Amino acid sequence: MNILVTAGPTREPLDPVRFISNRSSGRMGYAVAAAARSRGHEVTLVTGPTSVRPPAGVRVVRVTTAREMLSAVLAHARKCDALVMAAAVSDWRPERFSRTKLKKTSASPVLRLVRTPDILARVSKMPGRRIVVGFAAETGNPAPEARRKLAEKKLDLIAANDVSRRDAGFDVPTNRLILIPAGGRIQRLPLMSKRRAAAIIVKWIESRMGA
Ligand code: C5P
Repeated sequence: MNILVTAGPTREPLDPVRFISNRSSGRMGYAVAAAARSRGHEVTLVTGPTSVRPPAGVRVVRVTTAREMLSAVLAHARKCDALVMAAAVSDWRPERFSRTKLKKTSASPVLRLVRTPDILARVSKMPGRRIVVGFAAETGNPAPEARRKLAEKKLDLIAANDVSRRDAGFDVPTNRLILIPAGGRIQRLPLMSKRRAAAIIVKWIESRMGA
């Protein structure tokens, strides 16, 4: 199978030295890419800025902003059998970008933020059939929001977690995921390494594809 994985945060610049972003380390998406590769799939990893080393044998496309991630995903999604959107895409970007560094001696800037494009929404409008897996990072019980996103983004599977826990979510090697397939039963995975959680997701995709 041809599997496209996104990972990491996006950065939305304010000026040449400043940006808004989030705490995603990219580890979950990189683990999915590694699991897919080790099971013999062709893998393209579209990644925002992270310090994690990409797995061997994976095609890596580096991007910075949500808009760049959208272009890279659209360019590769047509020929993929499955898309795993593990990236923590920034929901907003500064409306204005200053080509020169904003000076602290001038008046404090008022930040106006505008929405970034919803990559999954754009992919779901593309022709062709592919398995689409999304992630949801929530604070508190992730199940209700995850169900909403599963339906709204027309996903086949959503993997959700509570990022307010210390042992799950951002910047740790472990995760405690809830998996909700479209039309299927919720599965609560115990605390485990992101590597193991990634293997479960890849096997779920394979079984869905009849591989
Ligand atoms: O940020 P949110 O919780 O809505 O993310 C849910 C899913 O949607 C994730 O898989 C994320 O990668 C994807 N997403 C996206 N484009 C965005 C924001 C999120 O594809 N602009």
